Amino acid sequence: MQLTRVDDRVQVVTGTNVNWILVTDGEAVTLVDAGYPNDAKALLASLDAIGRRPGDVQAVLLTHAHLDHMGGIPALRARHDVPVLTGEEEARHARREYVEQITPLEMLAQCGTRAGRRWVRQTLAAVLPKASMSIADVTGVPAGVPLDLPGGPVPVATPGHTRGHTAWLLPSSGVLLTGDALVTAHPLSRLGTRPQLLPDVFNEDRAEMVASLEAVAHLPADTVVPGHGPHHRGSLASIVAEAVAGPAGD
Ligand SMILES: [Zn+2]
Repeated sequence: MQLTRVDDRVQVVTGTNVNWILVTDGEAVTLVDAGYPNDAKALLASLDAIGRRPGDVQAVLLTHAHLDHMGGIPALRARHDVPVLTGEEEARHARREYVEQITPLEMLAQCGTRAGRRWVRQTLAAVLPKASMSIADVTGVPAGVPLDLPGGPVPVATPGHTRGHTAWLLPSSGVLLTGDALVTAHPLSRLGTRPQLLPDVFNEDRAEMVASLEAVAHLPADTVVPGHGPHHRGSLASIVAEAVAGPAGD
């Protein structure tokens, strides 16, 4: 686990090739995403590292219902029953009314390269034996309406990676938590560390991702905190332009 301070109220934590974000307001915390199932210990340790407890978490916000972003939620909720919120469409995904996730066969196909084999090994270790889960009582929230939670997060519809993918704007920090709509690195990317889209094997609809990003490029943010890779500062418009202009990652 690696903990990086973005500003006084926003810390990004990196678990198994994936980030979650702790947004504080006094003692209270908003958690955004929760790592893989086997990142649960690291998730709890990250709260401890900033002097907070599970009971200080007011809500978990999900960018999307992939296992590497919601895996730690049951362990947190076993200690403190906390609501889980995401965009209205993504809530259906979190309830597993349908599944949009890389399949075992698609994972296997990554084993043709050394980096791919390493990623598959790390991913299986981070997931098994909890390779499927759902959140039956997730709450869907409408896009654009700020929540009364630490950081005043605003859900931003960014479909494409998944149908209901939801980024979160933290207006007072000028931070956009982009989840997997825009990342800055990934073990399967050949683009190194820079704003980019995830390789297409992970995405439901790349064209929709690009349209989503272009639609949010005007938001008042000068820092992007992605689901994968380090946070990145700069005008959101230029970060988006760099990501969508880049070559496809696979
Ligand atoms: Zn992810």
